[in-house]
Amino acid sequence: MSHHWEAARRLREKGHRLTPQRLAVLEIIKAGPGHMTVNEVLERLKPQYPTITIPTVYRNLQWLKQVGLVAETDLGGEGHVYEYIADHPHHHLVCIHCKRVIDLPDSSLDPLFESVCKEYGFEPAMKHIAVFGVCPDCQKHKEGGEEQSP
Ligand SMILES: [Zn+2]
Ligand SMILES: [Zn+2]
Repeated sequence: MSHHWEAARRLREKGHRLTPQRLAVLEIIKAGPGHMTVNEVLERLKPQYPTITIPTVYRNLQWLKQVGLVAETDLGGEGHVYEYIADHPHHHLVCIHCKRVIDLPDSSLDPLFESVCKEYGFEPAMKHIAVFGVCPDCQKHKEGGEEQSP
């Protein structure tokens, strides 16, 4: 697909090497249902690379993360999840009770990033952030006695 070749071209310009295996991992992540674990990526790679192992998939994912195509995030589940973010930077609100994941547009955290830049002279590189908390439904279901806590 054109995006891949666009991505490949940009990487080559920067002196990176997008090997067939890295490209395969990238295609799986991009076509995937969103957040995927290393295991889920591995399962989808198996038909093409029957002997591929978790550490190899992990290394490919780390490389894709370094070049800014894939985000690695802890959404509170088992292990980190990976997602293709080059086309759609975004963030998430994650409920610690029901594990619900709410999508946030990239721009919603812009004021935060701007103040971090201004006050700390620090340029945040993260394109995919999970904010943990309690969703509206779980707040409603909280028992009466807890209502005084913030
Ligand atoms: Zn995401
Ligand atoms: Zn919840």
